[in-house]
Amino acid sequence: MWFALTLILSAALVHLHFWWRGKLRAQSRQQAADLAAGQRQQQQQRLDAQAQQQVLFNSMLEGLLLLDKNRRINLANRAFNNLFGLKLELRGKTILEALRVHELEALVQRVEAEGQVLEHELKLPEFSERWLQVNAAVITNAAGEREGTILVFHDLTRLKQLERQREEFVANVSHELRTPLSLIKGYVETLLDGARDNPEVAERFLKIIERNANRLDLLIQDLLAISALESGKVTLVLQPTDLRPLVEKVFNDLHSRAENKGVKLLNELPALTAKADVNRVDQVLANLVDNAIKYGRVQGCVSVGGGETGDGKLEIFVRDDGLGIPTAALDRIFERFYRVDKARSRDQGGTGLGLSIVKHIVQSHGGEVRATSEPGKGATFFFTLPKA
Ligand code: ADP
Repeated sequence: MWFALTLILSAALVHLHFWWRGKLRAQSRQQAADLAAGQRQQQQQRLDAQAQQQVLFNSMLEGLLLLDKNRRINLANRAFNNLFGLKLELRGKTILEALRVHELEALVQRVEAEGQVLEHELKLPEFSERWLQVNAAVITNAAGEREGTILVFHDLTRLKQLERQREEFVANVSHELRTPLSLIKGYVETLLDGARDNPEVAERFLKIIERNANRLDLLIQDLLAISALESGKVTLVLQPTDLRPLVEKVFNDLHSRAENKGVKLLNELPALTAKADVNRVDQVLANLVDNAIKYGRVQGCVSVGGGETGDGKLEIFVRDDGLGIPTAALDRIFERFYRVDKARSRDQGGTGLGLSIVKHIVQSHGGEVRATSEPGKGATFFFTLPKA
């Protein structure tokens, strides 16, 4: 009886033991699963936060570089990689290993010493003269200890280019104005010193003064036109414009200039209607035909022609049979004050601004302008306009 009772009790206890162990095991399995899920969730959250951070940093226009306290790269955003032309993973590298820009390494040392450096300008000559502005500061923890350095890079290249262009423009304008002005001054002084007593000499000098005053006038008109076009103040009055009669009008305006040089003017344009500002297109044609006469051959021929391009545009050309333009200069002739032959241009009363005015006007119509030339055989200028 006792034996049976003991046996039943032991069996019950064994059963209880196994039941309890099973329960404990299930519980710990559940805990482990919960723990793993928690860790996974935490890790996922961390990854999500990192990805969000990366998206945020990559959407910045400024380059961002984060260094740890050992000056190793912790993070570099997309703009930074683009600024420095980098494609490799930079994490863990030093500035010198990753970029080889000694000035930047020196800047980081300065930031560590001073806490922050603002608006430091950095030139990267190996990237076709790229200019950067760097703002940098030390990152510290709650205890005030240095944790790393943050550097923000702003691309100044465009700004520097504009600054240089403006300086060149001012220098060019001053130079262009000074030449006729000093001639006028010189001849006026000579007249006052007694030359006026000789009517023949006086007349010759006065004619020179008149020519140079006209030149100044022309230059100032062109400068005002350029500045109005560049500031975007010019509003185009777009309307259906018949080009053939417009070419005829321009030929009439320039008739005497062509005749003086024995140049034949040919209007070969078919009936084309552009959606354009008639006065501005008049200016474009006048500049191109005037140049074609100026730089064309004596007893030569200037023709205007064109047609539809097929993509809703019209292409007009002005062709001469003069000296032409050296291939190397073809891209540059649309720049302000660029001339292939300075003396020749000035002799002909050129300001060096005509083609850049042409380019501005055509571009403001959404068109394009280009030139082709076979040196010695003439030049052809093409421009496009939207079809009406
Ligand atoms: P410019 O007042 O000197 O004529 P433009 O801007 O009209 O100024 O032209 C710039 C330069 O382009 C000229 O100085 C000249 O060297 C060259 N050029 C323009 N048109 C022609 C052409 N039809 N044939 C040869 N050279 C030309």
